[in-house]
Formats: sequence, C-alpha cells, structure tokens
Amino acid sequence: MICNLCPRTCGALRTETEGHGVCRMPALPVVARAALHMWEEPPISGTRGAGTVFFSGCSLGCVFCQNESISHRDFGKPVTVSRLREIFFELIAQGAHNIDLVNPTHYAHVVAQALAEPLPVPVVWNSGGYDRVETLRALEGKIQIYLPDLKYVTPEYTEKYSGAADYPEAAQAAVLEMFRQTGPCAYDENGLLKRGVVIRHLVLPGKLAEAKRVMDWVSGHFAPGEVLFSLMSQYIPWGRAAEFPELNRRLRPSEARAAAEYMDALGLEGFTQEPESAEQAYIPPFDLTGV
Ligand code: SF4
Repeated sequence: MICNLCPRTCGALRTETEGHGVCRMPALPVVARAALHMWEEPPISGTRGAGTVFFSGCSLGCVFCQNESISHRDFGKPVTVSRLREIFFELIAQGAHNIDLVNPTHYAHVVAQALAEPLPVPVVWNSGGYDRVETLRALEGKIQIYLPDLKYVTPEYTEKYSGAADYPEAAQAAVLEMFRQTGPCAYDENGLLKRGVVIRHLVLPGKLAEAKRVMDWVSGHFAPGEVLFSLMSQYIPWGRAAEFPELNRRLRPSEARAAAEYMDALGLEGFTQEPESAEQAYIPPFDLTGV
C-alpha cells in the first residue's frame, strides 16, 4: 500500500513485511503485548481491566516516550488481520471490558478490517492524538470510545519534543472529529464508559502554562461534561529526556497541584493523578504476552 494514513501523509510504500514511512512500520500490524490492563481511567479499566493491544512503531517522535522500546525501537511481532481479531476475542474471554487499541494510528487500515464485524464490547482508540481526520472518518461506527492525547497546543514544543510542528492543528481537528462521531460520554449500568471522548494531557516539567493552554482549548470547544479530561501527572524522565535538561526531572507536586486546580476552576470533568503515581509500574512489560 501507498500510505497517507496519518498527518505525515508520507505517501510511503508499505508492504506486508516492510515499512518506509516516518512510522517505519509494514502494512501488517506489529504487536508487542495484548493483556488486561488496570491503569487506564476508571470507567475504562473498570474492575476487570481494559483489553489492551499495544502496537509497535509510531509516526511521532516524542523524546520522553514511556513506551519507546516499542514505539521508537519497534520491538514487536507481526500478526495477520485474522490473528488480530482472534486476539480481541481472547482478551474478551479473559474478561476485558473493552478492546483498547494503544497507538493504533498507523494501523487504521487493519483495525478497520479486523472490526468489519462489530465486537460484543466497546472499542477504544487510544492514540497520541496525531490522527488524520480523513482516516478517522473511515473508522466511523467501528470505534465507540476515543482516548486521544492532546500533548500541546504550541507548535514550538511539538516540533522540539515530538518532531511534528503540525501536531496542534492536526490533533485539535482530530479531537473535534472524534467528538462528532461519538457525541457526549455515555455509560452502561455499571458505570463503564460505552461511548465518548476522553482527552488526555500529560503535564511536562516546567510546562504548566502549556497545560493551562491545553485546558483552555478543551474548555473553549466543549460544554461541561461533553468530553472527559484526564490530567496526567505521572511524568518520569524516559527515552531521550536526558538530552533535554528541562524535561529531565519529575513533576513538582506544586506543578501537579496547580494544574489540577486550574482544571477544577475551568469546570472540566474527568480525572487527575497524584504525582506519587509516577512509578515504572505504569509501563507494562513488552514481552509479546498474548500476541
Ligand atoms: S502511517 Fe506511517 S507511512 Fe503512513 S503516512 Fe503516517 S508515518 Fe507515513
């Protein structure tokens, strides 16, 4: 295939086994782990866990990526589309409340094929937010819950820390398209999310003002309660963070507190994390479990 799936629109050739675009990934999906996961937001992880499928490769280049062994160093195993669907059903048999596709952007074409027939549980599109609107439109009706990051709204940061100057414009358009598809959040009888958009923002050290600008954007585009906002304070220096001294520390409790207070003052509904939750335990072992 000639690939234009993500905002990079590389037009790169992707064969079943080789990839030549920014994401480096072949046309068949490469998966590093498929297992129940308790660390998503409460109405997604529930009591039994989200059925996470971690995809390898990435079209972004975030210098602090916590999953860099799979996103930048591409660890994982190629699987066929039929095996991917089989994995979904194995996770459902283990009790997964949903199928949680982690970093699926560059595999949108195979996700659409694997979901040609609906699943008995909601499907979560858990992306970095760097999604192309045209690609999302092709997924309409197949994805019930969108869980995008909104990492920044300032191009200077997106270029420097993620290698994508167009991230703000692309991610904002993507979030609006996601909401157009799902509408406001809706829950089942057990309080689990069955439809909606949850926007995540990881507060970076020294970037409280940027976190506020992100929250301002969300507050300016959605009525209270229409989307959920997940303010993440568990940043730990990882990946290439040592090359960026300003990112090479944990968040100060005062920064996390100020961000949470701002979220509260704006009336954004959702979730916050304690900075003490910055543990490596959030990074699951990428060991081909369930693949
Ligand atoms: S998904 Fe990969 S190959 Fe396709 S446009 Fe994006 S970076 Fe390029």
